[in-house]
Amino acid sequence: MEAVAEKIREAAAKLLSEGKVDCVIGYAQGTVPMRDYPYFAYTPEEAQNLTWSPFCCNNLANFLIRRPKGEIGKVAIVAQGCVSRSIVGLIKENQIAREDVYILGVPSPGMVDRRKVAERFPLKTITEVTVDGEDLIVKGNGFEERISQKEVRRDNCYTCVQRNPVIVDEMMAEEGPSDWGGNIDAVAAPWEKLEPAQRWEAFIDEVDSCIRCYACRDACPLCYCHVCFVDESMPQWCGKTQDEADVATFHILRAFHCAGRCTDCGACESACPQGIKVRRFTSKIEKDVRELYGYSPGMDLEETPPLSVYRPNDPQEFIK
Ligand code: SF4
Ligand code: SF4
Ligand code: SF4
Repeated sequence: MEAVAEKIREAAAKLLSEGKVDCVIGYAQGTVPMRDYPYFAYTPEEAQNLTWSPFCCNNLANFLIRRPKGEIGKVAIVAQGCVSRSIVGLIKENQIAREDVYILGVPSPGMVDRRKVAERFPLKTITEVTVDGEDLIVKGNGFEERISQKEVRRDNCYTCVQRNPVIVDEMMAEEGPSDWGGNIDAVAAPWEKLEPAQRWEAFIDEVDSCIRCYACRDACPLCYCHVCFVDESMPQWCGKTQDEADVATFHILRAFHCAGRCTDCGACESACPQGIKVRRFTSKIEKDVRELYGYSPGMDLEETPPLSVYRPNDPQEFIK
């Protein structure tokens, strides 16, 4: 892991010193355990702060479209499979140009869910978590324990179908297996077993603790609308309260806005302070898109997204 981080630092410093990019978007080590954070390096010296670890949970593609005002130059970005798929999506949606992005590709190690680690140590304060091969060494006041990363990965990493970057300019490590053997369709399966009334009840239960903070939306590279429908007031599409109808409207509409676009990167779930499993909604829609149109978002730069094209054999009878 440290060898990959070192390679990223070297490549970033070289790109910046040669003036090939204005900025390298990567991760830096967080000040609290398991919280590596998005970092913008503008100089070869700043590039030395870049890191790579199983705690890099933000989707950096988000920052290609949310760069500080006035920054329009070419950027480099650290991208594992899901982030590269989001970049492909943004290129296809004409939000960025391929030639303006230099991709430093990394095979994903599978990211750790910090909540799952914390749950292992109830009522204890974790002060340090380090990586030792396949394990994590978790330290706190008066304890030190070794746990396997395999047991505490984010849910979406278990079912990831593309760990290696789809598009890349320079690889930072050799490609690994493309998946972990998990079944992506299993995420939606619990919903599919339910009758509509039970499904609604399960959905309302899931979003019951939502505080409408929009961290899930803000963490998502697909949610780049200049004004989101929830912030629009003329007309007001959705109330701003925590009433069931308003909360449900937000989640249903956001999930549908991600249809045929979500790469299952898990950034929304990682960002939610309430631990709401928002991927349960997007995963069901993505499964439908896969089955109806044979399309998986972000896997191919050339393939036209199904919701941007009409084919005579499209399943919707009403269009014909
Ligand atoms: S929820 Fe919909 S309207 Fe809001 S930012 Fe996301 S895609 Fe745009
Ligand atoms: S909806 Fe969530 S899982 Fe899908 S692309 Fe956005 S942040 Fe990633
Ligand atoms: S991040 Fe969680 S609490 Fe915040 S709006 Fe999204 S689902 Fe609700």
